[in-house]
Amino acid sequence: HQQLSDRINSMATSQTLAMAAKTRELKEEGKDIIGLSLGEPDFNTPDFIKDAAIQAINDNYNSYSPVDGYVELKDAIIKKFKRDNHLDYNRSQIVVSTGAKQSLANAAMVLLNPGDEVLLPCPYWVSYAEIVKLAEGVPVEVPTSVESNFKITPAQLEAAITPKTKMIWYSSPCNPSGMVYSKEELRALADVLVKYPNIIVVSDEIYEHINFVGGHASMAEFDDMYDRTITVNGVSKAFAMTGWRIGYIGAPDWIARACNKMQGQITSGANCIAQRAVITALEAPVSSIKFMIDKFKERRKLVISLLDEIEGFKTTEPEGAFYVFPDVSHFFGKTLKGHKINNATDFSMFLLEEALVATVTGDAFGNPNCIRLSYAASEDQIKEALKRIKAAVS
Ligand code: PLP
Repeated sequence: HQQLSDRINSMATSQTLAMAAKTRELKEEGKDIIGLSLGEPDFNTPDFIKDAAIQAINDNYNSYSPVDGYVELKDAIIKKFKRDNHLDYNRSQIVVSTGAKQSLANAAMVLLNPGDEVLLPCPYWVSYAEIVKLAEGVPVEVPTSVESNFKITPAQLEAAITPKTKMIWYSSPCNPSGMVYSKEELRALADVLVKYPNIIVVSDEIYEHINFVGGHASMAEFDDMYDRTITVNGVSKAFAMTGWRIGYIGAPDWIARACNKMQGQITSGANCIAQRAVITALEAPVSSIKFMIDKFKERRKLVISLLDEIEGFKTTEPEGAFYVFPDVSHFFGKTLKGHKINNATDFSMFLLEEALVATVTGDAFGNPNCIRLSYAASEDQIKEALKRIKAAVS
């Protein structure tokens, strides 16, 4: 509509939405679609967390909370950062938000001026580029491929830095590739960044606990990076709490204060019941969610072994999160069952129409050779989906 702002008009429509719309259309026609496109655990929130929320309602937690979160929640976050990440934060460095997504949006809004560049190692989570653009920043993609294990090298990082570089954003474990940067790899990137003291790092660690190789590392663990790193985390993925909408940051004081100010004008504090429940979630030992991680690990093995049997899918073994990100460029230029496949978007649509399996095109993540499959689905669904894909492409 002509009265809409340039801001919204210049924002890309989510490619995942195009897929969702097409999926709905086919379902309405009565087609039996298997959805491997969603980025959310197929578990319910554990009972001990639900009980804490019910208790909070009965205890009359119904007023506005402090904008940056209840102190009891901040203290639980501080303990969690210490326990899991060897990070020391105090209360003034913590901001609780309506999902890690808001934490990321706050970071962009308080740090970026028009034209500031943000380095995004590819593939990156679908919203990074649009959030950066919304804050009038310029996303700068740093490409990787299945051959480089979807990780950037220090040399690539250095080559991408310009006088306008303000930030770098990455997730590890990564959505969508599932790769995990080791402490040594992060140190090598940090060695480049220390030469450019004005660059601020957003380390998105929301898949921290969904790690099959062990050894989660945080950029802020390095003393020379601590004062310029925003550590983003949340409960959506590890605790199966996507709809509760709680995320948080640990950051330098001055950044946390700015995020608090931003949030104070836009949303106020996050939902009070959800905040109380998250205190219980974060105080619980990590072993309380291990059953979900174990399931993801089994499914990862299943999905990898089934993908290996299909010609034309080149894949790395994901080390964390619950996605595989195969390179499907083998099919580009071919015609499959009458569908001309020019790119990953065509291929993903082909799988939806001919295999009745919903995936997401790698274009959405800045990697046009790949597609993303989520294995946050039952083993039966995974087996059936991969059987259908195999039949459709062979
Ligand atoms: N960061 C990454 C890498 C994600 O995959 C997601 C959700 O898909 C988020 C952040 C957002 O999480 P939240 O539900 O806490 O807003």
